[in-house]
Amino acid sequence: MKRLLPVLALVAFPVFAQQDFSKVEIRAEKLSEGVYMLAGAGGNIGLSVGEDAVFMVDDQFAPLTPKIEAAIAKLSAKPVRFVLNTHWHFDHTGGNEHFGKAGALIVAHENVRKRMSVEGFIEFLGMKFKAEPRQALPVVTFTRDVTFHINGEEVFVAHVPNAHTDGDAIVHFKKSDVVHMGDTFFNRLNPFIDTSSGGTVEGVIAAADRVLQASTERTRIIPGHGPLATRADLQVYRDMLATVSGRIREQVRAKRSLEEVQASKPTAEFDAVWGKGFLNPQRFTEMLYKNLQR
Ligand SMILES: [Zn+2]
Repeated sequence: MKRLLPVLALVAFPVFAQQDFSKVEIRAEKLSEGVYMLAGAGGNIGLSVGEDAVFMVDDQFAPLTPKIEAAIAKLSAKPVRFVLNTHWHFDHTGGNEHFGKAGALIVAHENVRKRMSVEGFIEFLGMKFKAEPRQALPVVTFTRDVTFHINGEEVFVAHVPNAHTDGDAIVHFKKSDVVHMGDTFFNRLNPFIDTSSGGTVEGVIAAADRVLQASTERTRIIPGHGPLATRADLQVYRDMLATVSGRIREQVRAKRSLEEVQASKPTAEFDAVWGKGFLNPQRFTEMLYKNLQR
C-alpha cells in the first residue's frame, strides 16, 4: 500500500496495514436482478450490472484490484464506467487510480476530492496518506445529490453532512430497493467516526435516521463494513450508537476524564455483539469521548 507512510500505519493500524491481501477472496452476493454486494477486505462494494455498463460503489484496496476485476467479469462483460466513492478513506478508494486510468468516471462529494488531492491524515488512528495522483481523483463532484440512470435503475446518491467524514454519500438503487451506506453504517462492529475529517456522531445517527425513513423491511442495506443488513439491523445500530453516545455525552458535560468514562463501561451490554471489531470497547469509548469534546 504505497499510499501509507509505513511506520505510522503499521504501528497504529495493524488490522488493515499488515493484512495479507494474497489470502483475501472477493465474494459476490446477489441482491436483485443486477445489483450485487462484493465483500473482500476494506469497505464493501456495491455493483449495478446490466445492458449499459458496470456502476461500482467503492473499490477497496489497490492490491485487490485484479481480484475485484475478476469477480466483476463473472457478473458482466461490460466495462466499469462509473466508480462512486462513498468517502475518501483508503480502504474504499484504493482501486481508484487503476479504474480511473482504465476509463471509469470517478464521482464523489466535493470534499472527497479535496481531501484526496492533498496529504491526508486520520488523527485517531495515527495514519497519514500522500496526496493522490490525478487519475485517482473524482472527476465529477457534487454537493448535495446526484442521480444516475443506468441498467434500467435509478441510482440516487445523496450527501449526508458531517457523519463518518465530511464527504459521505449514501447510494440508493431504487428499483432494486438496495441502499449502500458507506461507513455511516458498520453492521455488528463498533463504528469508526473520523473526527479529524469532520465526522460527528450526531451526523452518523442522522444518516441512519434518513435511511430508516426511506426504507422498508424488504430493503437490503449494504454497510461499509460487516455483513449485509436489513432495516431492523440498522435500527439496532442506530439505537446502540444513540445510547452509548448519550451516556458519554452526559459525562463529557460533567467534565469527567476519559479514564472515568471508560471505567463507567458505557458500552457494556453491547460489547458481546459490537466490541469484537478493530475498535474494542475502550477504544470505541475513547473515540466517542474525543468526538463529543470537539
Ligand atoms: Zn471510512
